[in-house]
Amino acid sequence: MASRSCRVNIMGDLVVSGTMQEIVSRLNLIMECVKNREATGWPALMGDESWTYTTAKDERVCPVCGAMDDLTFQGDTIPEKFPFYEMVSDTEILPNVHMMYPSLKGACRCNFEWRDAAEVLEARLHEEKLMAAR
Ligand SMILES: [Zn+2]
Repeated sequence: MASRSCRVNIMGDLVVSGTMQEIVSRLNLIMECVKNREATGWPALMGDESWTYTTAKDERVCPVCGAMDDLTFQGDTIPEKFPFYEMVSDTEILPNVHMMYPSLKGACRCNFEWRDAAEVLEARLHEEKLMAAR
C-alpha cells in the first residue's frame, strides 16, 4: 500500500488524514466507537438533554405540579430536583412529585419527556467520531 499522505472528508467537519494505512486504522477506530455506543449507550440524564415536564392538564392537577407544566429541565438536574424520579424508558421519566409532599393526595400523574433525544444523540456520536479521528 502506498504511504502517500492524504485527507478524507467523511462528513462535514470530520476529516481523517495521514497515510492510507493511518486513515484505515482511524476509520476502524471510528467504526469501533460507533459500534460500542450502539451496544452500551450513554449514561442516563446528562446536561445536554432537555426534558419537558407535563401534567395531566385537568382540574385534578395539584398546584405544585401545575406550576411546572411545560417547563423544561436539563437531564442532569432531575435526580436532585426530583429525588423519587423513575425512568420508564430511555425518553420518559415519572417525576413522582407527590412523594416529596406527603400532604398531596393521590399519586402524581405527571411525566417528563426527553424532547431533543434524536438531535442530542446524533451530536454526541458525531463528537465521539471527531475524537476517534484525531
Ligand atoms: Zn404531578
